[in-house]
Amino acid sequence: MPTDPSSLATHRVQASDSRAVTLGTVHWSPKKSFWFLGMASGALFGGALTFSWAAFGLFLGSTAIVLLFGHSLGSHRKLVHDSFKCPLWLEYTLVYLGVHVGLAGPIGLLRQHELRDYAQRMPICHDYLRHGQSFWIDAWWQLNCELNLSHPPEIRLEARISGDPFYRALEATWMVQHVPLVILFYAMGGWGFVFWGVCARVTAGVFGHWLIGYLAHNHGTMEHEVRGAAVQGRNVAFVSLLTMGECWHNNHHAFPGSAKLGLASGEWDPGWWVLLALERLGLAWAMRLPGDLPERPELVLLNPTLRTQPKAGLARRSFRRCVRP
Ligand SMILES: [Zn+2]
Ligand SMILES: [Zn+2]
Repeated sequence: MPTDPSSLATHRVQASDSRAVTLGTVHWSPKKSFWFLGMASGALFGGALTFSWAAFGLFLGSTAIVLLFGHSLGSHRKLVHDSFKCPLWLEYTLVYLGVHVGLAGPIGLLRQHELRDYAQRMPICHDYLRHGQSFWIDAWWQLNCELNLSHPPEIRLEARISGDPFYRALEATWMVQHVPLVILFYAMGGWGFVFWGVCARVTAGVFGHWLIGYLAHNHGTMEHEVRGAAVQGRNVAFVSLLTMGECWHNNHHAFPGSAKLGLASGEWDPGWWVLLALERLGLAWAMRLPGDLPERPELVLLNPTLRTQPKAGLARRSFRRCVRP
């Protein structure tokens, strides 16, 4: 009987029952399904009827902003992992932009991330939580369904987040938060700007989040193995710019608390580049790197020859600590 990794002792998710992340059923979620399919319909039909290069440019620009500043920096590297420090007003701005990806509210997204993170580190977990089914079943599940666990674990969020009035307000209104943008974009360029600037952007964000999640747990390269884990993260190099660096998921499974996701030379990481720029402006500091994280006995470096040392000045601290095979 394998034992749980010691690194889970301080995890936000705690379960006394080993069935907590294995037993459950997948149910169609009308709210999730109609949200995604409604946005996708608006993007496909409305977008096709109202196409203009200006609307398409709005789609590209607004999608890049919410993915880079919102999802990668705000929701993931800051709110979930607290991997860097910044002024509170900047944290709020980044997380607010993250809500505009259209996945969930900030607290809901944090809970989903933590449940998956915990489950994937366990020896076994439900297929829903590790993208373990075929491509089409996983697409149906993740974009239209929810997992109801039979013995759900406890997810403990720190009061700094769960009690924050701003985050609680965003959580209660995350769908409605798109309405001001609908009004603004309609005023700027009519329905074409709404279909491309809101519907197509949300569709790209939600669909892309699933697609990269599927690829990053099934296909791609591995430089580290988390021994005993239900699933390994994969690095999916060809989408490094599109995902703002979030595609280096093998690195992320190995060093979840690192603010830098692209670790080796050539692993492009736009989110990290922006953090370095913010650091120069005095707006971000205390960025954590793999060497700053506690050792994990279960972490194994698979291919040391592929690794490069950090550039001088970028990270003088120890780049990584892990057990070699
Ligand atoms: Zn993962
Ligand atoms: Zn994460």
